[in-house]
Amino acid sequence: MDTQTAKTRVEGSIAASERELLEILERLVAAKSITGNEYCGQAVMLEEFDRLGLEVDTWEPSVDALEDHPGFFRTSSYDECGYEGRENAVATVSGAGDGPTLALSGHIDVVPAAPESAWESDPWTLRRDGDEIYGRGVSDMKGGLAAILLAVDVLAEEGIDLAGDLYVQSTIEEEAGGVGGLLSVLERGYVPDAAIIPEPFGLPNVGIASAGVMFFDVTVPGKKAHAAWGHQGVSAFDKASHIASALNELNDQRQATIDFPPAYGADPSLEGHVTNINIGVVEGGDWPASVPAEVLMKGRVGWPPGESRADVRDAIESTIENAASEDEWLAENPPTIEWTGWNAAPHEVPRDAEIVEIVTQNAESIIGEDGTFVGGNAALDERFYKRYYDVPVVTAGPYGPNLHGVDEYTTVTSLLETAQTLATSAIDYCGIAE
Ligand SMILES: [Zn+2]
Repeated sequence: MDTQTAKTRVEGSIAASERELLEILERLVAAKSITGNEYCGQAVMLEEFDRLGLEVDTWEPSVDALEDHPGFFRTSSYDECGYEGRENAVATVSGAGDGPTLALSGHIDVVPAAPESAWESDPWTLRRDGDEIYGRGVSDMKGGLAAILLAVDVLAEEGIDLAGDLYVQSTIEEEAGGVGGLLSVLERGYVPDAAIIPEPFGLPNVGIASAGVMFFDVTVPGKKAHAAWGHQGVSAFDKASHIASALNELNDQRQATIDFPPAYGADPSLEGHVTNINIGVVEGGDWPASVPAEVLMKGRVGWPPGESRADVRDAIESTIENAASEDEWLAENPPTIEWTGWNAAPHEVPRDAEIVEIVTQNAESIIGEDGTFVGGNAALDERFYKRYYDVPVVTAGPYGPNLHGVDEYTTVTSLLETAQTLATSAIDYCGIAE
């Protein structure tokens, strides 16, 4: 069978497989696989791998095996749940020739659906309304996993033997940083020549980048006193707001000078805001009538490809040090900075990488519209492929404008188009066996 015939056949067969797609997605959505409790979602994936007759490898990640890796950090989901019972799963579809290996990869974990009462219907029951389907994870990214399964099923049904191997991956804890998920998959040896992750970036838009993200704690000291003798104390709140203003100024200056067009490719409102410093938690003080002795500010910095983690750490630390040196109290009693939790470097894939061109062409031809390159606002698992294994990776998935939100939704059409893009791109990339 020639490539074009094979592609036309899988496109037609996927278009006629709406019921199969929804049946898989319904079971995936019903599995409440919130980060830390992925087992119930993985059970559905394993049933599907079994139904497709695939060889599967499952394992729990191990901190001991990962902690020396430069991409490692201790995730909040590891701290809360450990890794016991939290298996990754990789199924291999062996190629019939010596073509390149492609990974189709997705995360099985979802964020909580709270407040569930705000949803129009139960978030854990797939609901269809015309072309729209609702439920936690339908776009991020159980819909993508269902599209992967459908693509693999249809390739087999149509009797298309790829020349290269396909890795079909279902990973844990992407929402907490993916260290025990995709990084563990790669460290186990599943390193393909290219990868596609159907996160909901809205085909024909194609994701080629992710943001760096780090969390930090700034602890600002004050001096405790009774409020009536407040002049004898030093308010840690006042000192913390001095530090917060300096960080705001740094943020303004960075936003005015740092640009990365893919970060606003799909959302023009993000132009001028492709990097962010946010103080998200402020804790301090213990009594209305006491001058607070300490304030803790917990922040996040996000930035597009272009700067290393060390560059960004230096910018923030020197801003805090300079602000402290301008203040008599803080010069003597400097704040402490600790980098804790999220610690992800950004990544960017060249636009002319073969997998980027293949996926872009297939998506544009299937959907009949031109797409744009997007990415660079949020951290993604994709970084592990590109940064540490030099594997080109594309984010290519369904429509999903309110991922993580109430009434998360996507469309049946965009999931079928995702499956078509995955299957045709696998044919182009891996080749067809003689
Ligand atoms: Zn996701």
